Amino acid sequence: MTDTETLKRRVCDAIDERADEIVALAKSIQAEPELGFKEERTTEKVVSAFESVGLPVRENIAVTGARARLGSNDSFRAAVFGELDALVNPEHPLADPETGACHACGHHAQIAHLVGTAFGLVGGGAIDDLGGSVDFVAVPAEEYLDLDYRRSLVEAGEIEFFGGKQELIRRGELDGVDAAVMIHAGSDVPERRITSDFSTNGFVGKFVTYRGKEAHAGAAPEEGVNALNAAVLGANAIHAQRETFPDEDAVRVHPIVTKGGEGVNVVPSEVTMESYVRARTVDAMVDANAKVNRALASGAMAVGGEIEIEDYPGYMPLRTDPTIVEAYDRNVRSILGEGVLTEGNPHLAGSTDMGDVTQIVPGIHPWVGGFEGSVHSREFRVVDEEMAYVLPAKITACALVDLMTDAESRRALRRAREAKPSPEEYLERIRAFRGDVTESYLS
Ligand SMILES: [Zn+2]
Repeated sequence: MTDTETLKRRVCDAIDERADEIVALAKSIQAEPELGFKEERTTEKVVSAFESVGLPVRENIAVTGARARLGSNDSFRAAVFGELDALVNPEHPLADPETGACHACGHHAQIAHLVGTAFGLVGGGAIDDLGGSVDFVAVPAEEYLDLDYRRSLVEAGEIEFFGGKQELIRRGELDGVDAAVMIHAGSDVPERRITSDFSTNGFVGKFVTYRGKEAHAGAAPEEGVNALNAAVLGANAIHAQRETFPDEDAVRVHPIVTKGGEGVNVVPSEVTMESYVRARTVDAMVDANAKVNRALASGAMAVGGEIEIEDYPGYMPLRTDPTIVEAYDRNVRSILGEGVLTEGNPHLAGSTDMGDVTQIVPGIHPWVGGFEGSVHSREFRVVDEEMAYVLPAKITACALVDLMTDAESRRALRRAREAKPSPEEYLERIRAFRGDVTESYLS
């Protein structure tokens, strides 16, 4: 049995030895961005990195994606995640000119972290001392977008959920996992700073169609039913709900119009919108969603039109696990020094499908520095390669060594997992968010 400090030193040395390779992989993924459930090239790159250290790999675990396994001791199982997908922002300087896809959320750095952690634990010869096994999971489709394509996958029976981690849960990929770790690029955090302990909102996804009746917009608008007026009224009725959302629920409702009419001289007969309804807790999500659907329906009622609302499960609220945070923070301090951790337990009103994972598995999703510009914006870029691509892998690998060599930590994590809903209970809960509301006032 190697002592923990020696083990951690060996793991960090193994990461340093392959640091150039880790950075090159991240840059290669950044240069070829692919959207969710389409990450074929990105998956191939991760698979060859895993295979280069002799890990057995399963490919296309949820349409795309891959999973490598270190060790076979099932008495404790940790999983490290890295998100494969890009988002759409054609204004970003590194955007693919055809698809507009770009890594403006830094997911390419997550893959550096995923592969770097694997390189460290494999190269450092840690597995015999860990008291468990580690899975390295390259996950598709975290960004909730490109939804027409994803709806086509749902219709074809290839997926049930829009989020890659939700799909992994449905496919049983998280069964028996005791701890889940990943990192995420910080939004406009160029310095070496880390926020490890925080919560996020969950959300419901929504497609809205208003239907009316077309007519000549100048000569005979009285013969039409204006679907755009219904949508505007619906959006304003949502605004009238806002004072009823308690501050502590951090509700966010932000609809967009995706189709506003066909031609300016025709009364719009069909208008479509999309929205999220976000909140801090599942109860608050349910409450806000009911108010939003009622408000949207009022627009159809007012003009004598029709509304169809399709609700889809969005992502669930994220909660970090105190045992993992404690081990993680200890290694942040020893690798980066004092004063780099964000104090307190902030709540962030955005969302991630790591939230879904933390509903059923103790987890952590630290925001790490090294990035300038807000995530998703054209300004987003890496300004500190060592911080963005290499150092977080050392922190995670060392935190896993601490947690997995310590029987008390392993027991605490197992207890925390057993106190959470089972994957089946989770699936039932998010399926309940699916709904279809139709109200017609058309005569
Ligand atoms: Zn992201």
